[in-house]
Amino acid sequence: MNQVRNDIRNVAIIAHVDHGKTTLVDALLRQSGNFRESQVQDTMLDSNPLERERGITILAKNVAINYTDPDTGTTTKINLIDTPGHADFGGEVERVLGMADGCFLLVDAAEGAMPQTRFVLKKAFQHQLRPIVIINKIDRQDARANAVLDEVFDLFVELGADDETLDFPVIYASGRSGIATWNLDQPGTSIKPVFDAILRHVPAPHGDPDRSLQVQITNIQYNEYVGRIGVGRIYNGRIKSGSQVTVAKRGGELVKSRLQQVQVFDGFGRKNVDSAEAGDIVALIGLETVDIGDTVCDFQNPPTPTGTGN
Ligand code: GDP
Repeated sequence: MNQVRNDIRNVAIIAHVDHGKTTLVDALLRQSGNFRESQVQDTMLDSNPLERERGITILAKNVAINYTDPDTGTTTKINLIDTPGHADFGGEVERVLGMADGCFLLVDAAEGAMPQTRFVLKKAFQHQLRPIVIINKIDRQDARANAVLDEVFDLFVELGADDETLDFPVIYASGRSGIATWNLDQPGTSIKPVFDAILRHVPAPHGDPDRSLQVQITNIQYNEYVGRIGVGRIYNGRIKSGSQVTVAKRGGELVKSRLQQVQVFDGFGRKNVDSAEAGDIVALIGLETVDIGDTVCDFQNPPTPTGTGN
């Protein structure tokens, strides 16, 4: 049966380089109620020199935060999906946005929305992802949050956003101070409004864990010890470490493989799990031929790959 995974949120982050994404994500992780120092040691969500030079993110990276809401005691896993910000990576933008059910636009309160974010924003609107706008760095002396908010609204209109999208929620934040607020006149005391916005405004993922397996690979990472790692969202089914799977190549070829290990994202790193289910984002180790655009299916009777299944 198609189920709603209310314990997961998959959110794409759209931001210009230097607008404070890494600092904000770090604050979210530290204030999640489940922070362990080991979660930040692995791979920081940091930009490489080419990304800085071009003002865009080139390689999509994932970070996961287990957030325990102090009001309800409920824990939700929030997968934050970084988006490559440029038309040169159009195909990747499409696939990465396909993993998300909502998005953030993070904008520096002094610099305002930068042209490099237009392309990916437009794609996000086409994918029906409703944005949450975070005006960040409000502690800056030269912050002009209200004017930047007007600019963002005008930009959304220009990009053809519908009325519902134009009614976007807005949060004002200082990632560096670890605070956020819904109202500029009431200074924040924690980063909680960002978590509240995710839980309230990003739809929980749908999927059927009992249907045949469908993982669409949206990114490839490399590790010198384990080789290729395929990253993607499970749209349906359940995937187990050590199981046999069929990789349906983008060109239609079917390749049988043994999956060594399923990992999920954990803080800035990843951790091994025995299995994962529809709705989650996984990293798959041991599939030597796996590539972006492939679909990982059950070993027996793999379905014809038909895109996202949404
Ligand atoms: P990213 O490139 O978007 O990941 O940005 P970073 O998080 O690396 O931040 C870029 C720069 O902005 C760094 O020098 C940060 O110290 C600074 N920065 C980040 N958040 C804030 C903030 O809330 N206020 C101010 N004033 N500076 C910030």
